[in-house]
Amino acid sequence: MIQLVLLGVIIGLLMAHIWRRAPRGVESFVGGRMPAPMSDNPDPMDAAGPAGLHPAPTAGAEDDPRDLPWIASWSPLDAEARRGQNCLVHQQEPGPDGSTIQYVSKSCEDGMAHTRAGDRIVIPDSIPEALRHETIEHERIHIAQRRHPEAWINFYQRNWGFVFHTGPPADMPAEIIESRRGNPDTWDPEMGGPWPCWNGRWWPVPVYKSPRNPKLRNASTVWYDGWRREVREFPPEAWVQFFGTPSQNEHPHELAAVMIVGEDTISEAGRRLWTWWRTNKTYVLRQR
Ligand SMILES: [Zn+2]
Repeated sequence: MIQLVLLGVIIGLLMAHIWRRAPRGVESFVGGRMPAPMSDNPDPMDAAGPAGLHPAPTAGAEDDPRDLPWIASWSPLDAEARRGQNCLVHQQEPGPDGSTIQYVSKSCEDGMAHTRAGDRIVIPDSIPEALRHETIEHERIHIAQRRHPEAWINFYQRNWGFVFHTGPPADMPAEIIESRRGNPDTWDPEMGGPWPCWNGRWWPVPVYKSPRNPKLRNASTVWYDGWRREVREFPPEAWVQFFGTPSQNEHPHELAAVMIVGEDTISEAGRRLWTWWRTNKTYVLRQR
C-alpha cells in the first residue's frame, strides 16, 4: 500500500516536473526568436522614418501659387496617387536657357523629374548624380515646349499627324478617362493639353494600371481607336513604323523630348523632328 502511494507521489512529481518544463521551453523559444526579426529587418523602421521627418503638406498651404492650376487639374486618382508626397523646394540653382532647377524630396512625383510653370525644372533627390545631366536635357525640351507651344503644336500637326483636342472623344470609355494619369509636362491646355489624336483615329492615353491603388510609376499607355471604338494596349502598327519604339509614347511632347535627347534619326518621325529642331531650337529655347 505504501509502495503504491509512494509510486503515485513519484508519478505525480514527475508529471508536475514535465508539465512545468514544457511551458518554460516554449517561452524561451519564443523569447529567443521574437527580437530577431525586428533587429534583422530594419525596413519598416526606414519606411516610417522619412514619412515622420517629411509630413505631407497640408491642403495646399505650402504649394507655390504657380502650381495651383496643375494641382486643380488632378483627377481623384491623380490626387490619390500623389497623397503624402512632398514637393517643397530645399535647394535651387540656375538651369539651362535661363530656367531654374529646383531640388525636392524623392517623394515628389514618385521621384520623377518634371517641369512646372515659371521655367522650373524639378529634380527629386532620388535621381542619381550620374543621370542628372541627361535628365535635365530632357526637361530642357519641356521648358522649350512651355515657352513656345504653338511652334511645337504646328510641327506635330504638319509633320507627325498629331492634332490636339480640348477633351476626349464622346465615345471614349469612361474608365479610360477616369484612370488617366496626369503628367505635369503635358497637362496644360496652353501647351496643347493631354488629348492628342494621331491620324484622326488613335488616342494615346497614359492610365493607372491599378485604379483602386493608383501609383504614378504603375501606369501604361493605352490606345483608343476612334474608328472601331476599341481600346488597345499597344500602339497601332503604322504608328510603330513611323515613330519606332520610343521609351515614352504617351504624348507628342514626351516623344519629342525623348527623340531629341536620344538623337533619334532612325525613325521617320525622328528624322523630321531633327530637321525641324536644327532650324527652330534657337527660337523655341528662347525665353518668352
Ligand atoms: Zn518628359
